[in-house]
Amino acid sequence: MEKKNIDWANLGFGYIQTGKRYVSNFKNGAWDDGVLTEEATVTLNESAGVLQYAQTIFEGLKAYTTQDNHIVLFRPELNAERMEASAKRLEMPPFPQDRFIEAVVLTVRANAAFVPPYGSGAALYIRPYLFGTNPVIGVKPADEYQFRVFVTPVGPYFKGKARPLSLRVSDFDRAAPNGTGHIKAGLNYAMSLHALMAAHHEGYDENLYLDAATRTKVEETGGANIIFVTKDRRVITPKSKSILPSVTRRSLLYVAKEYLGLETEEREIAFEEVQDFAECGLCGTAAVISPVGKIVNHGEEVCFPSGMDKMGAITQQLYDTLTGIQMGRLEAPKGWLKIVE
Ligand SMILES: *Cc1c(COP(=O)(O)O)cnc(C)c1O
Repeated sequence: MEKKNIDWANLGFGYIQTGKRYVSNFKNGAWDDGVLTEEATVTLNESAGVLQYAQTIFEGLKAYTTQDNHIVLFRPELNAERMEASAKRLEMPPFPQDRFIEAVVLTVRANAAFVPPYGSGAALYIRPYLFGTNPVIGVKPADEYQFRVFVTPVGPYFKGKARPLSLRVSDFDRAAPNGTGHIKAGLNYAMSLHALMAAHHEGYDENLYLDAATRTKVEETGGANIIFVTKDRRVITPKSKSILPSVTRRSLLYVAKEYLGLETEEREIAFEEVQDFAECGLCGTAAVISPVGKIVNHGEEVCFPSGMDKMGAITQQLYDTLTGIQMGRLEAPKGWLKIVE
């Protein structure tokens, strides 16, 4: 199969329209058969539920070309499961999990020419999403929905070497204790944009959110979970009901334990403890791990010993091991890679 003529190594993280996308509609209480279409534009009634009351959820995962030239998905069943949880929380009909995976596979196969080649550092980003389509004006869930999957090639997150990020502790909250922080809903992002722009304006890359109830415990950033490495080489990550259950974070903890022989812990982490940690990283599908060099809390700086010009040593090992698994250079745990082609 002929690949598209794209400068893979210099792709950014942006939308590029690809060939086909998957669409299925929910009407009269049932999902239709679903089709692949070339139509990239969505036309909706002016009062569609998604437009008025933000009934929309999404997922994000990637397809990679492995060393032996297969196109693979990384643990897509975890995205299927998480999307079902998101749908239920927003009173939307879940798209069945087996059909979710089938739709992702069909869409990736149909766009195989856009899957970046092995060694380019780039990948195919996959965006499944689900939203309310029929007119709604009184506050209630929509009755009709659309599930779509599109794909777009994205470049290597780090061009050259990874640059450690600086975070600030936000005065805004991301998620209420019993709110929607644990689901992947557009609404969580809409309300984070102001805080994000304010952080950028002050020269920070991202906001670190503390728990909204006590403002003492570390939660996550706007779009990534956080992990720390202690000085005695334990890998720890916050436990909270209002954190999004990142597939990358869950995989990294497994890799830390089973591949690198490190102790791992998922527990409440007081912000006060952070000054004692050796390394810090943000994890998510986009970058796998972005190292964090510094966290600033109202003028008070916490600088990690790993510094501002490279990843910490253990962060680097975690990164190399997980990306090695994803690219087929290291043996994957059973069931982690789904071969598409
Ligand atoms: C998507 C997302 C993540 C990362 O999850 P992955 O499954 O690892 O991509 C982390 N935090 C938030 C708030 C997210 O929306």
